[in-house]
Amino acid sequence: PSVYRVGMSCLATHIIYQAINDTEQAVCERFFLDSLLPRGSLESRFPPTRFKALGFSIQYELDYVNMLKFLVNSGIELDRAKRKDGPLIIVGGPVPSSNPLPVLPFIDAVVVGEVEEQLPQILDAIAHGETKEDQLELLAKIEGVYVPGISSNVRRIYPENLDAVFYPLRQVIPQVEDDSPLCPVLGKAFLLEVSRGCPRRCRFCLESYLYHPFRARSFETLLELAENGAALSSVRKIVCIGSAAGDLSYFTDLLEELVNKGFHTSVPALNPYAITELLLKAIQRGGQRTLTLAPETGSCPLQEVCGKRVDLSLFLEAVSTAKEVGFKHLKLYLLIGLPGETADDIASSAALLREVARRGFSGASLHVSVNPLIPKPHTPFQWLPMLPIQEYRRRFRILVSSAKLPSTLFELLDPRLAYLQAFLSLGGEEVSEPLKLAAIYGGSLRAWRKALRECSINLEELLTKPRDVESRLPWDFIDTGVPRSLLLREYTKALSEPLS
Ligand code: SF4
Repeated sequence: PSVYRVGMSCLATHIIYQAINDTEQAVCERFFLDSLLPRGSLESRFPPTRFKALGFSIQYELDYVNMLKFLVNSGIELDRAKRKDGPLIIVGGPVPSSNPLPVLPFIDAVVVGEVEEQLPQILDAIAHGETKEDQLELLAKIEGVYVPGISSNVRRIYPENLDAVFYPLRQVIPQVEDDSPLCPVLGKAFLLEVSRGCPRRCRFCLESYLYHPFRARSFETLLELAENGAALSSVRKIVCIGSAAGDLSYFTDLLEELVNKGFHTSVPALNPYAITELLLKAIQRGGQRTLTLAPETGSCPLQEVCGKRVDLSLFLEAVSTAKEVGFKHLKLYLLIGLPGETADDIASSAALLREVARRGFSGASLHVSVNPLIPKPHTPFQWLPMLPIQEYRRRFRILVSSAKLPSTLFELLDPRLAYLQAFLSLGGEEVSEPLKLAAIYGGSLRAWRKALRECSINLEELLTKPRDVESRLPWDFIDTGVPRSLLLREYTKALSEPLS
């Protein structure tokens, strides 16, 4: 539930759209939130109420607000209990897969995990159920589908072999100018998913825990998908997707091969361990001028705490190599609010940035994006309290002033938005009412303030309290395949790391 350029940059949109439209039994049409686009579905201009089911792929917590606003604007009753007819409301994606509780009162079903292999059964259930009750009964029987009021728990589903799973080759890419508001965020490109998940298991990372085990497509499959997909989608740019794609031994060869065939390429953030001169040269040849790295912190003890364990000397070597091979811009991601973070740790991050600047990325060629650590369900940090809002701002100011890089762009994710993300990510059903009110009031920060006030919720009080490790967590009814005992062990280790 977003604007066209964001929605069409999401691989899930292409997968679901093409997989459904490739069947004989169903038609899938798209809705976006742009005021630029005419009302109704993009394909037929039908209103949402004309469809048997509305599916929402929720990639980001605040998309929940967009989803509810869309339903309200479509004249669809939000409360499931009062909604007797109309389309089924089905959600999926990483946010509800990890914790759908905030939207449970509004939806009919949630797909927990990766939908490809279950999609035919889901379509069958919708097509064959004669009444809404029948459809829900049938949906509840499908592994990975949770139906509120019928299911009691759910196990995450995922395809084991990415080479064998459906892939959208005919991706819809709008023929618009690059500066058009309808141009996808990643440009007019074929999205090539190289891998899912990440084997590194950083303790804060939902990608690693929710998409485990790490899976990758083979070199041969990727090449075939890229060539056929780019031809069918009429583009010459390939955007590689996958947090750990750069870790694959054949990733450099893949890029070389694509560039030799005349494609422009773009790659995701790389792990410093994976960086070699050859890889950076291949990325350069593909036309990418900005390199993105996520060291998270310049503090060695906090590298251990968060489980990222980036060797900072390797990281700096990678930065030097990037400069040598000709990268013009470097984007770095840092976290603040890691457990046990002290003034010394922030000073270490500032020192790391100065080292980066000494290696040639300073001023406008360096962009530092700083995020408050937001604990996520099903990760070891799910029990972690957040810091008071002012504390994030204070630490950010210290980082910026001690880095002493006057013309470098530093950005901090607004801690108020980080709080809302955490509230939606870690909440139970008590979140539903303020969420609904915030959507009805328009979804802005002011709308949220009003909604929270009316529900007597003080976010800071709520989120800065540690969670009891003995108590059941609201999302414990979801079995992601990672035992809670492992998460707890990792959490306990993280809290004891600075002392070890
Ligand atoms: S390296 Fe990145 S994607 Fe992998 S687990 Fe760590 S944060 Fe997540």
